[in-house]
Amino acid sequence: MRTSHRDARWWLASSAAIVIALTFGVRADEPKVEVPPYNRMTDAEEVALGREAAAEIEKERKMSFVTVPAVQEYVNRMTQRLVAQSRRAQLAYTVKVVDTMVVNASALPGGFVYVNRGLIEWSRNESELAAVLGHEIGHVVGRHGSNNLSRFVSLDSIILEASARLLGTPAPALMLKQIGGPVAFMAMMKYSRTDELQADLLGYYNLQRAGWSPEGMVDLFKHLGEGSTALDSIMAITQSHPAPADRASQIVAELKQFPPAAGLTRDSAEFKAVQAELKKLPKPVSAS
Ligand SMILES: [Zn+2]
Repeated sequence: MRTSHRDARWWLASSAAIVIALTFGVRADEPKVEVPPYNRMTDAEEVALGREAAAEIEKERKMSFVTVPAVQEYVNRMTQRLVAQSRRAQLAYTVKVVDTMVVNASALPGGFVYVNRGLIEWSRNESELAAVLGHEIGHVVGRHGSNNLSRFVSLDSIILEASARLLGTPAPALMLKQIGGPVAFMAMMKYSRTDELQADLLGYYNLQRAGWSPEGMVDLFKHLGEGSTALDSIMAITQSHPAPADRASQIVAELKQFPPAAGLTRDSAEFKAVQAELKKLPKPVSAS
């Protein structure tokens, strides 16, 4: 009798869990982001540091941006749609389209995302581009950058409290200086293979919640495997990027185990229109 009660309770509890999971779209295997104890950076500190680093890096690399409103607005809309469905939607993400033909994208801590014009022109459909954005947002959600920085530099209470006391804010400039400036910052930010695979998985679930087919991620890795292009390699954010085939097989396994809903977006007329807009622009002079 007691056993059957327990069984009934167990059954009720697990049914409730399944109902909750279905209602909120939470999948059992979406990686749960754990913040390591050595990363004591608050969201505000991470954003302040990311903003400062972004400004310095843009200056140092003489980055120029595509300012065509149709392109900018389109990429921003895609980014915000993904952000809203991400596990770190409380940050105010920004995205910039870098005017370079290098096929690449990157994200700095705090939600500063860069997508190269070359990547948008190279993508074969909208879900490939969405997959890249989902991956980059995944790095921010996974706190990969701030974890790395915290591992290398003692961004502990001494620096943070001292700067906060001196200037009344987390004082990003002081933090960046303590790190050694933008070049050291980028060197320390390099993501591990584990970070890359986690960013892919976070992106995989984020894409679906935002309405894009995660098949786009498989398309992307196949596409990457066809050439010598390695995402993130130019911005030197990756230590050793996993081979596209390894990244694809992780996602293919996920697709088999948890097939996505039908009717998710693969492509759009707007994406093609944005590509056409970009192709009309003069080729960028800068190589980076
Ligand atoms: Zn990456």
